[in-house]
Amino acid sequence: MDKINKNEYLQAKPKFLLHVCCANCLLYPAAALSKDFQVYFYFYNPNIYPASEYIKRLKYVKIVSEIYGVPLIVGRYEKKMWLDRTGTLKSEPEGGLRCELCFKIRLKKTAKAAKKLGFDLFGTTLTVSPHKNQAVINNLGMAISKEENQEFLVADFKKKDGFKKTMQLSTEHKIYRQSYCGCVYSMANSRD
Ligand code: SF4
Repeated sequence: MDKINKNEYLQAKPKFLLHVCCANCLLYPAAALSKDFQVYFYFYNPNIYPASEYIKRLKYVKIVSEIYGVPLIVGRYEKKMWLDRTGTLKSEPEGGLRCELCFKIRLKKTAKAAKKLGFDLFGTTLTVSPHKNQAVINNLGMAISKEENQEFLVADFKKKDGFKKTMQLSTEHKIYRQSYCGCVYSMANSRD
């Protein structure tokens, strides 16, 4: 096989827009995906409440972006839209219908951004968390992939000790760890 230089190799890798829920969940998936893809981070999380928490989580994603040398694209913080859309589901338990809609809002926006910006495929870090149902997330991703005609990477990053690995990396890099999932409704279920 002919030798190719690093730049040619990078250009040959598919361009992947990776939705990032937080810096902790990002560390392992980003390292794993970078072997096969030209990864860009996409921070779009209108669910996060309050704004000070949003700013803090984004700050740590920027730190990971710098550590890995991976570009970061930041979506709009559409918090009112998110509250309006999920308001009727505010009494749902974590893992219920509100979360499904929350995943859908974020994945849909990521797919649209991937399409607009000329990415080959999109995916999300959400499945690394043991609190998140990978089947629900992957089914939504596949449905949105069809709607938007944009390839989606089916993945379950919690497999092969993915969660443990991402938390080890989080400790190593001194990343801030939140105690609740993100929205105002989940604050009452703080995991600490
Ligand atoms: S608990 Fe987490 S996934 Fe569920 S709606 Fe709130 S922020 Fe979204």
